[in-house]
Amino acid sequence: MPKGMFVDTSICTGCKACQVACKEWNALPHEPGHFRFDPVEKRPVAVNFTGDSYDNTGALGATDWRRVRFIEQFSEDRSRGRWLFSSDSCKHCNDAGCLNACPTGAIVRTGLGNVFIRQDVCIGCKYCIPSCPYGVISLSEGTGTVFKCTLCNDRIHNGLGTACAKACPTGSISFGEVAELRKAADARLAKLKGLGYGEANIYGYKEAGSLNVFYLFLDRPQVYGQPEAVTVPQQRLPVSSAVAIAGALALGGAALVSFRERGSREKDEEVKR
Ligand code: SF4
Ligand code: SF4
Repeated sequence: MPKGMFVDTSICTGCKACQVACKEWNALPHEPGHFRFDPVEKRPVAVNFTGDSYDNTGALGATDWRRVRFIEQFSEDRSRGRWLFSSDSCKHCNDAGCLNACPTGAIVRTGLGNVFIRQDVCIGCKYCIPSCPYGVISLSEGTGTVFKCTLCNDRIHNGLGTACAKACPTGSISFGEVAELRKAADARLAKLKGLGYGEANIYGYKEAGSLNVFYLFLDRPQVYGQPEAVTVPQQRLPVSSAVAIAGALALGGAALVSFRERGSREKDEEVKR
């Protein structure tokens, strides 16, 4: 039975305990550009101000496997507003573009359904990076290989849940069997709809072959920075291959016609001589 996570953004408070737990458990270093050494205070100080609410992560990547997004929404006269939060990570897609694209077999799906990068097999070719529709992978300059969330591969294969779910004080992130998590998500969605949250929706039942890490949003997925129509690059292969073949045939046909015309011109010239 695949394991995954249900992220109920309606009860996330944006505390970032999940981000800290992820960094700590996975021993992830800070981004070099996020700090500078302050000669007066004689210590590194943070300079990673994104100007995007309280988001100081900016993007997922090799050293940031989890990112809490902050979305501020105001009425036109700014008399009413609300804050939406969403703890984002690799979705462990069932149709995983990264895994399909990897030429060395470094990206694998384990028996628990999580998508895992084998560091000893990765050659740093970066094919997986544009193949992820969620932009969660990046190259580590230090190792020359790529990294992303492993769904706490070491923990879950030893009977533990993910570090982020364990740390979340509100229960916004739940780890477990995907089938059970879906039941909980459906029940929560029905409850929220009953309370008047008409825009509430589940994201991840149909995207990229369904996501083992899926979300309950209070607004459209786009508002949370998630693509509404997800295309895994390999899904476009049949169409792009057909276009390439048609193009090659057209080019071949044109070349044949031009050779024939040239041949008959040369023949005419010979006859004239
Ligand atoms: S979200 Fe991206 S990195 Fe994660 S499994 Fe899907 S395609 Fe791969
Ligand atoms: S720990 Fe839970 S409540 Fe805090 S930011 Fe992460 S998901 Fe939200």
